[in-house]
Amino acid sequence: MKKLIDFLQKGTCAATVVREMEQRFQEAGFEKLSLSESWNLTEGGAYYVVIHETSCLAFRVGEGRRQAPFFRLVSAHTDQPGFRLKPEPELEKGHSSKLNVSVYGGPIYSTWLDRPLSLAGKVAVRSQHLFETDVRVVDLTRPLLVIPNLAIHMNREVNRGVELNPQVDMQPLAGLDLSEHFVREALGETLGVETEAILDYDLFTYNTDTPMTTGWNGEFLSSPRLDDLVMVSAAMEALIENTPQTGVTVLAALDHEEIGSRTPQGGGSAMVSLLLEKIAACLGLDRRAFMDALTGSFMLSADVAHAVHPNHSEAHDVKVYPILGGGPVIKLDAGQRYMTNAADYSVYRQICEREKVPVQTFISRADKVSGSTLGPVMCAYLPCRIVDIGTPILSMHSAREMMAWADYEYTRRSFCGFYKL
Ligand SMILES: [Zn+2]
Repeated sequence: MKKLIDFLQKGTCAATVVREMEQRFQEAGFEKLSLSESWNLTEGGAYYVVIHETSCLAFRVGEGRRQAPFFRLVSAHTDQPGFRLKPEPELEKGHSSKLNVSVYGGPIYSTWLDRPLSLAGKVAVRSQHLFETDVRVVDLTRPLLVIPNLAIHMNREVNRGVELNPQVDMQPLAGLDLSEHFVREALGETLGVETEAILDYDLFTYNTDTPMTTGWNGEFLSSPRLDDLVMVSAAMEALIENTPQTGVTVLAALDHEEIGSRTPQGGGSAMVSLLLEKIAACLGLDRRAFMDALTGSFMLSADVAHAVHPNHSEAHDVKVYPILGGGPVIKLDAGQRYMTNAADYSVYRQICEREKVPVQTFISRADKVSGSTLGPVMCAYLPCRIVDIGTPILSMHSAREMMAWADYEYTRRSFCGFYKL
């Protein structure tokens, strides 16, 4: 429990998630590899590589590596919905200093109102070499911002539902009469560099609320960023704890899922496929052998799932819906917005059976379009067998989400079963 809570608190944006992953993999004895240098891999070895600061691929090499499936991969995402600062974001209105923001992904706007927020992300600092930017990961940690609600007296219809315009209603208040470049100044101070040396930054708002155990018997976890840090954390623990008997076990924690994954470090690029080919080549497989290995490999596309809402069961299918505490969820969709099919479904189901983990199923109502995630995007470059799964949660994309503690343990155990084969 403590490991997950710690991860949720420190993983405030994709860059800090990866920074925390690095810390944990280093503590567990994983060797850091460089993206663009040659690798010297050995059987029984454990490694990780950071991709453009916001994605991470970690893997273990088993002993009997030629047995299928060669790669057993869990994919999950490091980013979260929220708001991203625009360039020169400082705005003045009266004596109020505000920030100009863009929407990142699909946050539920209303849940971001009246919460103490901070900023985290990456900062590009002037460097000696033109193409070797000095990129620093930063988390300002203090509650610096609030997006204030409009009082009910000025908006009598508020409880009937209010449309929030992100350019008008979602600009965070930062302070009173702040300087013209207060963001750059804070970054310079935090990083210990001259303000002029800061060339650019990708900064995201995050909710500074702490994770909290709730429920009559302490059965729930209420926390920001459950989507998708719960899956990253469970897979990371499982990869650290389990040495594979055969093949290569991989965790790909990738950025930009919330905005479609089509970036160099996102699931929509060839990056993961190229890195898997590099692993195979370093282990002595030629390209043809790699292709055979890839098509016979297996991926769990791991992203949180929708548990049935206690006040809105009508939002789910009439018969098939997951519950909190019922174990990990296999996601199905007739339009293949989730990759799962019967043959691959049965593989994950049997892994869960072996680990004594209950398993559930999600499918949308026939009159609703289902969500989607990494599986359908990644199959473009990774034509392996794929199952979409996830821990059931409530309030997905709220600034604060909720899950059952039992499901974290069930999911973690299912990943252990998958990795230790
Ligand atoms: Zn997600």
